[in-house]
Amino acid sequence: MRGTDLQTPKTDLTPALPAPTSSQAPSGAWIDKAKAHLLQNYKQQPIVLVRGRGSRVWDADGRQYLDLLGGIATCALGHCHPEIVAAVKAQVETLWHVSNAFYSEPQIELAAQLTALSGLPRAFFCNSGAEANEALIKLARRVMKDRGTPERFEVLTFENSFHGRTLATVTATGQSKYQKGFEPLPAGFLHAPYGDLEAVRQKVGPQTAAILVEPVQGEGGVRAAPTGFLKALRALCDEQGILLLVDEVQTGMGRTGKLFAFQHDGIQPDAISLAKALGNGLPIGAMLCSEAVGKSLPSGTHGSTFGGNLVSATAANVVVRLIREPQMLREVTEKGEYLMARGRELQARLPTLIQEVRGRGLLIGIELNQEVAPIITRCREQGLLLNAAGDKTLRFAPAFTVTRDELDEGLRILERVLTPA
Ligand SMILES: *Cc1c(COP(=O)(O)O)cnc(C)c1O
Repeated sequence: MRGTDLQTPKTDLTPALPAPTSSQAPSGAWIDKAKAHLLQNYKQQPIVLVRGRGSRVWDADGRQYLDLLGGIATCALGHCHPEIVAAVKAQVETLWHVSNAFYSEPQIELAAQLTALSGLPRAFFCNSGAEANEALIKLARRVMKDRGTPERFEVLTFENSFHGRTLATVTATGQSKYQKGFEPLPAGFLHAPYGDLEAVRQKVGPQTAAILVEPVQGEGGVRAAPTGFLKALRALCDEQGILLLVDEVQTGMGRTGKLFAFQHDGIQPDAISLAKALGNGLPIGAMLCSEAVGKSLPSGTHGSTFGGNLVSATAANVVVRLIREPQMLREVTEKGEYLMARGRELQARLPTLIQEVRGRGLLIGIELNQEVAPIITRCREQGLLLNAAGDKTLRFAPAFTVTRDELDEGLRILERVLTPA
């Protein structure tokens, strides 16, 4: 098992950071400034990250951290991957933005790659997951109007899902805590329990345009759909003449061991959304769709100023080229199984503290019997970066280039934090 790791580049692992000179650590001053000027909409860990390489990041005080969160499932090839750095550097020195009033080569190449790999022959580019999902929702409504069934405008999604923070996508999101205070919410969304086909059947009606589903609910606690669920949804959508939309924002680009998570289920969606790992941290989202439904967003119906920008598309082209390699996808599967197995060993040692270890590929949740917020803080103090997926679940979404030693190190820190001497 060991020895096949796609190693993090070995050079320059310890960047030359000046040692803090004053007694006042530089992070402190930055954090004071942040509190004075940033909208206080995030619960941020009190560290200022200044540098990264592979699965390691460093803060402004020179402290090193093991990053097993990967920019929230985003830096799938690790921080500052040298091939991405080189490609992006070359692109910014050449041309970085032209708008979609013109063609650009990196965007066209990315569309060609993603459509070939997904079997969905049309690509639209935007800047984020929420925007990619917004495109799915707009697409579904237009398709139904074009088919002469304008009464079909509703999108059915799932309880505990997460689809983004715009008004439409936060309404699609099946968690009321994200919607509170933003009413009135846009019309046309309803939610069914995840994995419950009978409940879905009961909710699909003459107003339904589409079902939007995550193959693994990421933010909602790292819960994979039950085996056969996506296939059953595909059959139901075919039977009802509605669209199956798959939110691959977190699960796409190899995260679960296949390029796209829907490929585990042997189905073909009508359209999918991508973002997070697509640009390895540079902002880019995409909607990929079938030829038939893509016709419903003709010239002038949808767009984005920055979407598919040359720099982000260039980064994404490197991501696609490296991630599509069978060896890379095997690494994700094997390291995911390794992390799962080690996590379950930890659970066996700490049965009263750990409720469940679950997930797919390198998207793993460890559900505790307590709120995870203080645990995440203590892990960070011990040099490990993770975050929460739901109140009680720790999320591991490491880079695919992570090593087994790094996964062991992360679990050792977690065990120490969970069992203070
Ligand atoms: C993160 C996420 C989104 C939202 O993406 P943003 O880039 O934050 O807008 C949507 N869907 C899923 C499944 C996600 O994990």
